Formats: sequence, C-alpha cells, structure tokens
Amino acid sequence: MKKAGLMMLVLCMVAMLAACGSGNKDGKEANNGGDRIVTSIGEGDGKHGTIKVEVTFENDEIKDIKVLEQKENEVLAEPVYKELKEIMIASNSAEADAISGSTVTSQGYIDAVKDAVAKAGLTLVAKQAAGKTQTDEPAEQTYDVVIIGAGGAGFSAALEAKQAGASVVLLEKMPSVGGNTLISGGEMNAANTWVQKNLGIEDSTDLFIEDTLKGGDNAGDPEMVRVLAENATAAAEWLKDAVKVNFLEDHLFQFGGHSVKRALIPEGHTGAELITKLKKQLDEMGIDLKTNTKAEKLLTDESGKVIGVEAAGANGGTITFHANKGVIIASGGFGSNVEMRKQYNPEYDEKYMTTDAPGTTGDGIVMAQAVGAALTNMESIQTYPVCNPKTGVISLVADSRFDGAILVNQSGQRFVEELERRDVISKAILAQEGGYAYQLWNQEIGDISKTVDTHKDEYEMLVKDGLLYKADTLKEAAEFFKIDPEALQATIDRVNKFAKSGKDEDFNHRAGLKDMSKGPYYIQKAVPSVHHTMGGLVINKTTQVLNEQGQPIAGLFAAGEVTGVIHGKNRLGGNAIADAITFGRIAGQQAVK
Ligand code: ADP
Repeated sequence: MKKAGLMMLVLCMVAMLAACGSGNKDGKEANNGGDRIVTSIGEGDGKHGTIKVEVTFENDEIKDIKVLEQKENEVLAEPVYKELKEIMIASNSAEADAISGSTVTSQGYIDAVKDAVAKAGLTLVAKQAAGKTQTDEPAEQTYDVVIIGAGGAGFSAALEAKQAGASVVLLEKMPSVGGNTLISGGEMNAANTWVQKNLGIEDSTDLFIEDTLKGGDNAGDPEMVRVLAENATAAAEWLKDAVKVNFLEDHLFQFGGHSVKRALIPEGHTGAELITKLKKQLDEMGIDLKTNTKAEKLLTDESGKVIGVEAAGANGGTITFHANKGVIIASGGFGSNVEMRKQYNPEYDEKYMTTDAPGTTGDGIVMAQAVGAALTNMESIQTYPVCNPKTGVISLVADSRFDGAILVNQSGQRFVEELERRDVISKAILAQEGGYAYQLWNQEIGDISKTVDTHKDEYEMLVKDGLLYKADTLKEAAEFFKIDPEALQATIDRVNKFAKSGKDEDFNHRAGLKDMSKGPYYIQKAVPSVHHTMGGLVINKTTQVLNEQGQPIAGLFAAGEVTGVIHGKNRLGGNAIADAITFGRIAGQQAVK
C-alpha cells in the first residue's frame, strides 16, 4: 500500500474509534442506526493450512462468521463451518466443543474466531442455554428405503435406490459423512478397467477372484467373491461416469497379494475424492441425509420382517424411520470399538490404536444380531503396520515402503521383510523394544515413491510432531531418534551389499533391496494400528442379510465393511472400496424391488 493510502486508512480508523469510543483494537467499526457493528479478521491452524475468518459483532455480540480462506477437506469441514458458527452465534462465545471426526479443523476454526475476538478487543458475554440449534425433526418419518451409515456403501446404495424411483433417507450418526471410505487411500480394485487397457495390463475376473480368496486364506465365500469381481468394473465405471469421480488415467497400484496392477487411484490419492463426489450427487438428486442421527434398533413386524429403524436424532429425541421397502445396513466395521474387538479376538486389545473413523463401532452388527442375523469371520481383524504413534492414523507418507524403504528397531537392526503381509509385519513390530519401529529411506527411493509431495500435509505434521526427520547424513538420522549411529550404518552397509548382489540374505525382500548409500535420509517412527474388521453379517448375492439358518431376513440388506463374506482372514489392499461400492449399489437396487 502506498504511504498516502496508509495514512488515510489510519486516520479513518482513528476517527471511527473516536466516534464510537469502543475498545476496538484491530477490528473495523461502523455505526448502523445506533447499533455498533465491528468486523474483525482472525486466523487459526486447520489440518491443511490457515483458516481465516471474518467475524461481525453487533453491540459486542457475534452476529456472523464468514470463512475467508481455508484449505480443509470439503466434506469434513462442512459441519464445522455450519454447526460451530450456529453454536457460537447462539451462545455469543468462541468456546465450543470440536465436531467429532473433524477435530483439527474445528480447533483451527475456534482459534480463528478467538483470534478475531481478541483483535476486536472485545470481551464477549456468553448467553446461557444456547443448546443445539438444529430444527426439530418429526418423530415419525416414512421412506421407501432407510439406509444406515454414510460411507462408500451407504452413499452408493442411496444413489441407486433413488435412481430406481424410491424415496430414500441416509442416516449418519456422526456430524460429518464419509466413514472409513473418506479417510482411506480410496484405491479400488477391478479387473479389465479402462486404466488397465491404457497401460496394456492383462487381467481377468478369475485372476481377481483367485487373488482375493488366496489373500484371505480361502476363508471368503467364493460365490460372493465372484459377485464382487464380476461387478467391480461396472461399479468403477459408474463412479467415473455417473458420480464424476476422477481417477488417474495412467497409474494403478498393485497392493500386496494381487497378481497385477488393478487398483484404480482417485485424484489426490484419498477417499475424499469419492465421498466429495458421492455427496454432490446425493445433494443433486435431492436425497435426504440426516447427520448426527444414530440408528439404534431395527424394527420388525410380527412375521420378523424388518420394517424400519429407531434412531436417536440430532436433538437427542427418538425418531422412527418407517421403511416401506427395505432397510440397508452400511454402518462399517468395528475397528474403533475396543471392547467389541476384544470380545471377538482378545489379541486386538488396547495395545492397538486404530486407523479407523470414530463411527466404526459395530452398531450395525449388534442391531442385526438382535433380529437374528448370522455372523462370520468375526475374529479376523487386520492391523496396518505403519501408523502414527500418537494418533494411530495410517501413514501414507510411509508408502515409500513399497519402493524400498526399510524398517529398523531402536537398536538400528532390521527385523522383518518389509513387504510381508500386514499382520506379520505388525506382530514383528510389536515384538521389538518399545513396540515400535522406524521406517528409513533415502532421497533416491523418495524420488520414485513421491509420497512426501503427494501427502505434504501429513509429512509436515509428522515433522512438526517430531515423528519424522529429514537428515543429510545417516548419523544425523540415527541421532535424532537416539539410535546407535554405528549400528544403523552397519545395517545400511548390509542393505547396500544385498542391493548389489540382488539377494537379501537376512529377510529375502521380495522386490529386492535398494542401495541407500546416498542421503538425504528420511526416518519415521511408526506403530501398527487396527485397520479393518473382516468379519460381519452374512449376506447373499442380492445383499439380503441371512439368519443362522441361512434364510434371508425379510426387508433387511447390508453392504460394505459391516458384512463378513468377502475378505476371509485377511483383506487385500484396494478391496474394501471395491466391496463397499459394488455391494452398496446392489443393495440399493435390490431394496427397491
Ligand atoms: P463402508 O466402507 O462399509 O461404507 P464406512 O466406514 O466408510 O463403511 O462408513 C460407515 C458409516 O456408518 C460411518 O460414517 C459411520 O459413522 C456410520 N455409522 C456407524 N454406525 C452408525 C449408526 N448406528 N447410525 C448411523 N450411522 C452409523
């Protein structure tokens, strides 16, 4: 700004302050027919950068909060900017509880508003009993199809049921939608896709079936795995063409256990692309979505047919959703429910955190059991080996492991083959001193995997929290985590020797180790965390939920992680999204019939 302009602004502000006589520090003030209006700008740190807000105060009360700048995930931020704003205006306070599932964004928003209040020089007088501001929902509501859970399966079911002409409601207990689908890498397996054709990769439905069954130690249901493999390609095309999901056209992942590259990668390498587009489509089709609405009980008639859902509404009251045609359970797994994990497999107790969304507490399994549903594979719980030791969240930066990063313990020793199955690596890490490991890679490996650039936010957060360190030398990398530098050097010397000979004599690394003699180095602390629950409801080819006698329970359908028939003892990477979208669509189509 030019000097003259600056002077003018200062003079104007001085004049305004003098006229109104408030304690306004940095805010702008105006007089509106006797009401004193102050606007002030504040900033806070969100998950993906600064959140900048403009707060308008009228006679020292918050009247409006506008978000001026932000880089948060659209889906997760929506309830923060809407609900926290309503709460803050109603209570005339910048103090509010974080929205569950969006805590970092919430905190950034709260900090930004507090900053604006401080800059305005105001002390707010909180109003009492602001309470929840949602409008009251009718206690009885009727739809053709009632769907429980707004993750990949629930959204897909909702869109298909609506497309088939049904009236649909989608219930989500959390304030924001998306579940595990949103926070996953979003990769989806399918055979013979357009991207495989682009890349000249030969694949077949039979090979996909074979890989999936073998990966699950042959405990999956072969007929159901066939339904998955035969319909996943059409489901992926539907996502691309009807839902407008952008997939990378020239890149596929080959997760462990797959014979070929067949995992489609959404733009941004996360499920946010899927959920954002599914939500847009839902809104465009006018489908009712009820967040903060927790399904608690399935309602049946005298014949045992499921005819509705009893739910706790946003205001805490009970709402009965009557279903003319069917109820679809798409409530995900139970990775976030430690008691339920222990009930089915005591191994997965408190020593594991979880990568999973907070809403994945197995509610759908318990509700369906109460109406006679059979369960299968419940003891099969999968851990992901390389996760954040503070939060349990999966590390996508650590995908450099697939390009040659190694794992060492506190003594600087390797202890497992880095491309082993997730369960084997996880157990090996927990057997090390302290129950953690370090993943180590150099710039050459980093240049191939590009995970630091792709997942810049995660990288910066890990660095900030002292969980990841970039060092010019190996010695520096070792010293950061108090590892004996000589021991680590000896390990790297061995790795370099095996890289040269092409044979890892210690752990038989299946892809061959890479030379790591040159820095810079990245070293990251990691622990295993519960990632997926393979077990759940038994469904048939039309996604009807079966009872203990193998008979369908009338009116009840299920899809996604809540079901237990596909993955057997171990789910292969990229198969959760394939499962959720493919069977979610089938459930939506079938429930309408
Ligand atoms: P999937 O991959 O099978 O679609 P997700 O984990 O992505 O599973 O989504 C499941 C969703 O269901 C989550 O958003 C979760 O919060 C929601 N959910 C879980 N239990 C209930 C419940 N009782 N009522 C409503 N929503 C629920």
